[in-house]
Amino acid sequence: MEFIDLKTQYRQIREDVATRISRVLEHGRYIMGPEVEELESRLAAFVGSRHCIGVSSGSDALLIAMMALDIGPGDEVITTPFTFIATAEMVAVLGATPVFVDIDPATYNIDPQRIEEAVTPRTRAILPVDLYGQCADMEAIDAIARSHGLPVIEDAAQSFGATRHGRHACALSTIGCTSFFPSKPLGGYGDGGACFTDDDDLAERMREIRNHGQDRRYHHARLGLNGRLDTLQAAILLAKLDRFPDEIRRRQEVASRYTTLFAERGADSSAKPDSGASLLTPYLDPANTSVFAQYTIQVDARDRVIEALQRQGIPTAVHYPVTLDRQPAITGRCRSHDLTHAHRLQSRVMSLPMHPYLESGEAERIVRAVAAALSPSSATKENAP
Ligand SMILES: *Cc1c(COP(=O)(O)O)cnc(C)c1O
Repeated sequence: MEFIDLKTQYRQIREDVATRISRVLEHGRYIMGPEVEELESRLAAFVGSRHCIGVSSGSDALLIAMMALDIGPGDEVITTPFTFIATAEMVAVLGATPVFVDIDPATYNIDPQRIEEAVTPRTRAILPVDLYGQCADMEAIDAIARSHGLPVIEDAAQSFGATRHGRHACALSTIGCTSFFPSKPLGGYGDGGACFTDDDDLAERMREIRNHGQDRRYHHARLGLNGRLDTLQAAILLAKLDRFPDEIRRRQEVASRYTTLFAERGADSSAKPDSGASLLTPYLDPANTSVFAQYTIQVDARDRVIEALQRQGIPTAVHYPVTLDRQPAITGRCRSHDLTHAHRLQSRVMSLPMHPYLESGEAERIVRAVAAALSPSSATKENAP
């Protein structure tokens, strides 16, 4: 069993991918070829955003977005500590300070009520993350940002294709950033990412920044990066895009199957963290649809569950075992408010195999294995001499 199966999808799209790739190899425009623009207009239409700028990775999307907003040394960016390193890392790479506030214990996304108290005269942006594929409370965040005249950057690396009140992730704030890392909901066969905005001026800056700050050939108006999306990755993503809506549906079906099977065994959802259940399934905010980049549960005795599953050939992962305020690379470069929920969750969450082609028999086997590892008799057995 695989944690994320990418080969089943490949077998189904092999012909399209081969045709698309050979077209690029024939026309030879490997850098900024026509596929990049084609992908950008299709993604912009999909998301409902005026502009899409294809870039080299999700991390570079965040970096380019913040560079376009002139974020640098002395500036503060309010964000969540319960995310992949890139979110705060890119803030720190620019010499700015990540300011961490706690998460909502039901959705695991940044708690908008904690943002207000973290705003200072140095705050330059708010950077929420759509963790595990579910959008943060973007209206509340946008409202706080508006009242302070701040831009919002949505880290939608895990949520491309998700919606909130019917609007797509990446189109819910000033700039939306996503990733096409192979294991993300829309993944390529290498690195890639994109920035989205409705702001014409920011779009132009981001287009320049991804290409060495060049405004016309060999004229460099500002500092930039080599941050372009490869033509080949754009071609592969175009081949994958047709199936993407169907794959989102399949992911949601896999997630509901897991949740139903766990509920039959007495699990509660993370909306009731104090219910006393030894296992909590993901809570989906009713305003949201999730793309389930991960299906992440909370358990007592996580190590025991992980080991038991491993013995049965079921792979798992922990997203994330260490909050970013406690990462050696970040600790000395950040400021933190109360992070009680994030710190509690880092030792309780674990993610189960999740991809569009996970079969119902597999889901049943996984749920049975988790339930058995958590049952009191299993604990007693392991403690017996
Ligand atoms: C994957 C990820 C990124 C970085 O994307 P890359 O394409 O790997 O650079 C940033 N933020 C979050 C939340 C992610 O999950």
